[in-house]
Amino acid sequence: MGRMDFTFGFREIFSKFSRVMVLVLLPCCFLPLNAGSAKAAEVTSTVMIGGSRIDVTIDSSEAPLSQTDVMRWVQNAAESVTAYYGRFPIPHLTLRVVSFDGNGVRHGMTWGRDGGLIRIFAGSKTSAADFADDWMLTHEMVHLAFPSQADEHHWIEEGSAVYVEPIARIRASHWTAMKMWHDLVRDMPKGEPKEGDEGLDHTHTWGRTYWGGALFCFVADVEIRKQTKNRKGLVDALRGVLDAGGDIREDWDLEKALKTGDHAVGLDVLEKLYAEWKAKPVQVDLAAMWKELGVEANGGTVVLNNDAPLAAIRRAIEMGTPSAKAGDKASPAGAGATENDSASATRPLAVFAGRTAKSQ
Ligand SMILES: [Zn+2]
Repeated sequence: MGRMDFTFGFREIFSKFSRVMVLVLLPCCFLPLNAGSAKAAEVTSTVMIGGSRIDVTIDSSEAPLSQTDVMRWVQNAAESVTAYYGRFPIPHLTLRVVSFDGNGVRHGMTWGRDGGLIRIFAGSKTSAADFADDWMLTHEMVHLAFPSQADEHHWIEEGSAVYVEPIARIRASHWTAMKMWHDLVRDMPKGEPKEGDEGLDHTHTWGRTYWGGALFCFVADVEIRKQTKNRKGLVDALRGVLDAGGDIREDWDLEKALKTGDHAVGLDVLEKLYAEWKAKPVQVDLAAMWKELGVEANGGTVVLNNDAPLAAIRRAIEMGTPSAKAGDKASPAGAGATENDSASATRPLAVFAGRTAKSQ
């Protein structure tokens, strides 16, 4: 109880500095998670972000993990999804980090049960830099922000997580736009239909599930931005789904989720695209999209061209719609709490073990 009082007292003190707040509570306690055998190798810490609570259990029984590195990694991922959605998607997350003897992060899994649960494995030889480069934990946290789907619609769950994850990290200054576009130029073709494809609902290959779903989100994002003169994007549709209660704890039909997203932006882009793509292969002219957006592959790197016709849309995908202050007359004054608000929250202050530190 004293710990909770400290938590909220501390948040009050610092809340004037930032809307995105992470508080790591140290020291940690040992949790007897297995009946009858308390594991000394398990420690639990709590991260508070906005009004949400993340209980992180680190199971180091296989190999030792740096608690400092793990908690920074959790903070970065939580800040990223919060920067994208404007808040952490669910009020309480149980996060189990399980160690293994080796390097890297693997086998992330997310469930809606217990109010929201993620289990992910981290290697004891993972460096702080490798944790900083990791995408998987942010991907898992993005899953929290979409309602659970039937099996034939896994492509939207995976596709939205694949597409949103790098954007979320860019918006929290944990990744760069250059790296994202480089990776998308390389990987997005994996989502195109191959011979024999029967549409997203009926083709359950790895490529179509992860990258086909991501391609759907990318095409929808650009189309929403085109139709709204770049005032809204997929982010507003996805926030609309979340705000309507569509998080991972809920089972929704895909139609309901897409309709809710469309309603949030006042369009029918998602429903129309789904009707086209669900039962037949639709090829996307990615080369034309890169060109219009100003993403030019140049050997092993990309060059971002700000003179391209849709360069403003590319930049809005990265960092959000430019605010009216920036001289964009197309943005109505007082457009409400859309993603403009999150742009100012892209450099959140982290409160770590009792001291403040600006995220890089
Ligand atoms: Zn996933």
